[in-house]
Amino acid sequence: MLSGRSFRLGRIGGITINIDYTWFIIFALFVFLLATAYFPAVLAHVPHPASPLMVWGTAVLTSVLFFGSVLAHELSHSFVARRHGIPINSITLFIFGGVAQMEDEPQTPGDEFKMAIAGPLASIAIGVLFIMLLAGAHNVLPPLANAALWYLGAINIILAVFNLLPGFPLDGGRVFRSLVWAITHDLRRATQIASITGQGFGWIFIVLGLASLVVPVLGKYITVWMALIGWFLVSAARSSYQQVVMRDTLSHVPVRDVMHPTVEAVPATLSVQQLVTDYFLRGSSSALPVELNGTVTGVVGVEDVQALPRDAWSGTLVSEIARPLTQEQTLHPDDDAWAATSRMAHGNRDRVLITEGDHVEGIVTRGSILRWLQTHKPGFATG
Ligand SMILES: [Zn+2]
Repeated sequence: MLSGRSFRLGRIGGITINIDYTWFIIFALFVFLLATAYFPAVLAHVPHPASPLMVWGTAVLTSVLFFGSVLAHELSHSFVARRHGIPINSITLFIFGGVAQMEDEPQTPGDEFKMAIAGPLASIAIGVLFIMLLAGAHNVLPPLANAALWYLGAINIILAVFNLLPGFPLDGGRVFRSLVWAITHDLRRATQIASITGQGFGWIFIVLGLASLVVPVLGKYITVWMALIGWFLVSAARSSYQQVVMRDTLSHVPVRDVMHPTVEAVPATLSVQQLVTDYFLRGSSSALPVELNGTVTGVVGVEDVQALPRDAWSGTLVSEIARPLTQEQTLHPDDDAWAATSRMAHGNRDRVLITEGDHVEGIVTRGSILRWLQTHKPGFATG
């Protein structure tokens, strides 16, 4: 549900790398702060300062290397996750780092622990590598390059330490959750405890950040930025707990309560144009079963129509664009709604057919699950 605000950078080891649009703002801010504040401060006491072009060029390169480090952090989570059987389709890089889109939760506390710790360990390793480079080469490198290496070493270690704070959903919170989970054998309860801890840390950050504005002693060590990080921690902890509750809720609801019942099937011999005007524009379903001689043979979705050029709509039959039933994911009406949600995430598809025997009872889409949550659990209305 995070797509639409991000852009695809490429693929590494079968994982799609996306960049959230907010990332560009932060990237620009990073370059700006390095070139106008950090580097000039370091170079102020150097006999032959670097040219503005060199300073800005180094600022861009340093920012690229930093975001490369963030990516390496996320990739190490992903590779460990995959080794433990949790598929990772994509990584999205955000303002505060990255999010690896896990399609499933880890099965055991041990798996979760290894997955969570992998990222910070990668950041520490990268940070140490930059510091070692600096230690080995600072005599031969120009001051600007030394400043960049020091910055990259420090920021990676800060990133690791920040991520190790024991507030869920940060890595440290996941490590903490895996330990509580190992003790209580109850994932929901462990998540709740980790989430409350995360919110607690967030509030401490908010109070300290705000207090730094009025208490001079505090102001020496921390800034109001800490309050912003605290606010981020509180909201992230809250929403990730909601996600676990959502899973818990949906896994107790039969999919028949959530599905859009298929009252009518589309004749396979209809034209696509008729399908649009007589079915899709009139009903609320984004996919419909297709029948031929009284038997359901496939499914046609709005996306199949959209893939067809508009001037071909009247000359094409529904049977030509429908997908055979065998390609669809199916569930029984008594299966739970969470099963439908995770099927959609796994298959990267927008729908699951609900069938009983040969009969298509209904269709579940992301939209129908969201609508159900909005009517039955208004607190989830955010999607
Ligand atoms: Zn991480």
